[in-house]
Amino acid sequence: MNFSNVKFLTSYGTFSQLPKATRIEIAFSGHSNVGKSSLINKMFNRKSLAKVSATPGKTATINFFDFENIFIVDLPGYGYAKVSQNEKLRWAKLIDGYLNDTSRHLGLVFQLIDMRHAPTKDDITMINFLVESEIPFVIVLTKADKLNKTNRAKRLEAFKTEIPYFEDITSVSFSATTGEGVQEIRNIIEEIACLLYTSPSPRDKRQS
Ligand code: GDP
Repeated sequence: MNFSNVKFLTSYGTFSQLPKATRIEIAFSGHSNVGKSSLINKMFNRKSLAKVSATPGKTATINFFDFENIFIVDLPGYGYAKVSQNEKLRWAKLIDGYLNDTSRHLGLVFQLIDMRHAPTKDDITMINFLVESEIPFVIVLTKADKLNKTNRAKRLEAFKTEIPYFEDITSVSFSATTGEGVQEIRNIIEEIACLLYTSPSPRDKRQS
């Protein structure tokens, strides 16, 4: 796959605006400020395909990107405290609506977690939801460059107790600053695209 071959399509502010599922989708999910936009930009070698923001919580839309024969779906960053209750509700509806819509061909979710900290309550809710819904997912541990070797080892050990099923879930340490993990993420996307265009995902199988 050619990772330069990507195009921003549209931002959707409400779930009902989403286009019909016509392709396999790979989604990116995480707490606001976790480094989701930086990861998307790094992956596609672009400076500002996804907007990196110094002010957390700005991305309250689902953003679709056209990448070869798949859609890359950038979900709104959740958990930002400084927004109104109404706005939080709208975000939750967007994320829940998207992830619960079994008519979509969701091939994989990259669930981002800041490697420096214990996962938030919302992160754990997301992981439990993905497990229960049988949505395949990979955990990306972001901002890896901010930890030295010792602290990194400590966090990896701590995640084993903090994240349910951590040792059974594929995880990738990632840094948008050094590029660590970027090739691994690209490889996972290629594998999933290749696999799903030859056989349906568990969720698609369940429907048929
Ligand atoms: P988003 O809200 O999840 O999309 O997060 P952004 O990509 O906008 O990043 C939030 C902040 O974290 C920005 O100031 C980024 O420059 C910074 N950041 C993101 N990824 C990394 C990383 O891998 N390493 C470091 N050191 N900073 C990062």
